[in-house]
Amino acid sequence: MTGTTIKRDLRTGRSLWADSPGLGVPVRPLTAAISVDVAIVGAGVSGAFMAHELSKDHAVAVLDRRPPLMGSTLASTALLQWEIDLPLTALAKKIGAANARRAYLRSRQAVDALKRIVAEERIVCGLKDKTSLYLAGDEYGHRALEAEAAARAEIGLDSRYLDAAALRERFGVERTGAILSSGSASGDPARLAAALLRRAQARGARVWSPVEVLKAVSDPDGVTLLTDTDHVVRARSLVFCCGYEFPKGVPTPGAEIISTWAMASKPRQRCPAWLRSTLVWEASDPYLYLRMGGDGRLIVGGEDEASADAHEDKAKLKRKREVITAKLRRLLPDVAFETDYGWAGAFGESATGLPNIGPVMGMDHTWAVMGFGGNGITYSVIASQIVAAEVRGKTDPDADLYRPAKSDAGAA
Ligand SMILES: Cc1cc2nc3c(=O)[nH]c(=O)nc-3n(C[C@H](O)[C@H](O)[C@H](O)COP(=O)(O)OP(=O)(O)OC[C@H]3O[C@@H](n4cnc5c(N)ncnc54)[C@H](O)[C@@H]3O)c2cc1C
Repeated sequence: MTGTTIKRDLRTGRSLWADSPGLGVPVRPLTAAISVDVAIVGAGVSGAFMAHELSKDHAVAVLDRRPPLMGSTLASTALLQWEIDLPLTALAKKIGAANARRAYLRSRQAVDALKRIVAEERIVCGLKDKTSLYLAGDEYGHRALEAEAAARAEIGLDSRYLDAAALRERFGVERTGAILSSGSASGDPARLAAALLRRAQARGARVWSPVEVLKAVSDPDGVTLLTDTDHVVRARSLVFCCGYEFPKGVPTPGAEIISTWAMASKPRQRCPAWLRSTLVWEASDPYLYLRMGGDGRLIVGGEDEASADAHEDKAKLKRKREVITAKLRRLLPDVAFETDYGWAGAFGESATGLPNIGPVMGMDHTWAVMGFGGNGITYSVIASQIVAAEVRGKTDPDADLYRPAKSDAGAA
């Protein structure tokens, strides 16, 4: 299995969110065999949304080989966007115009759903509505972005094209063009996931940790999970929410694990006022992205590299920090960024920017959730909606968009 490592070499030696308050999630060791309606493997943000939804009407067990939230959730910079890594116009070329429109609209609804859940559950995770500024770059220039904004507007998405002059006047940013969109958000992903797990626990869900699931075997009535404890878990339904630590035997067609880097400044970073309410990213490869946190930290990341292990390289972490800082300086020359936290992690990508969510081929009663791309958390929400519908014997109208390509490999 591939692991996400969060590098720890700066002052605090931790990812930014590791020092958030409110991360406590009661866990228990597995000291006897258990039987539940739904077993969820993975106590990250995907497992948390899944447990939150399914615990409404099922007995749920969440199992993790580590304490909750210690996977990629802790590394996430948590730009909560409906804009997919691949523009609508480019996605249409890959999956057809109608499907691409559905994917964009579904992501838009998912960010709204996330906001609704946070409000209804009174979750304190620094969630803030944000506009998003998508800057022309080396992958998509101003003409492509103008066409993209028009394509989005045609299906009712609130995206507006800004030419270079408008961009300069409103944001003081020098680029050939940009798309300004409303409806996104940002927050603390670890506090969000912890609170969702606790809400699920209040409805009877249990979080078992440390428990490593070594093997899962399905039969007509359910699934038996063999663990690294002496005890098995029996479940009517099983959902793998293992992030980028893909379960052995679960097919991951089209998925690639890459490395990515992120940094945060000290609190109360001096920044242009507009940045407090704006997520910034660029149509470049690799792309730079940035946003403010609730305490006035500037969080900035990018420099993705097509290697599953590069994020473990300490010397590279230093170099990447320098590159990201230099790019930030070019974009916002007046921002004097000083790194307080710096970390790196593994990150899953797919050719379409869409995740794999769906039944595991060759197994009954088993689903896998793999939220690829910069919208991983938005996809965690969508996954909880799609899988919960199917566990309940219903069908989600967009499930086909996220189905892994057919493969006859089975989980073992
Ligand atoms: C640096 C970085 C920046 C990112 N920025 C953004 C962003 O701005 N916006 C966004 O939406 N997304 C972002 N992402 C992606 C997002 O963080 C992920 O999509 C999300 O965290 C995935 O959550 P998860 O719960 O699926 O996985 P994880 O948080 O990785 O959780 C998986 C859990 O499964 C457990 N597990 C795995 N295998 C087993 C097993 N066999 N037995 C028991 N337990 C097991 C692991 O221990 C882990 O706790 C970013 C990711 C990184 C690394």
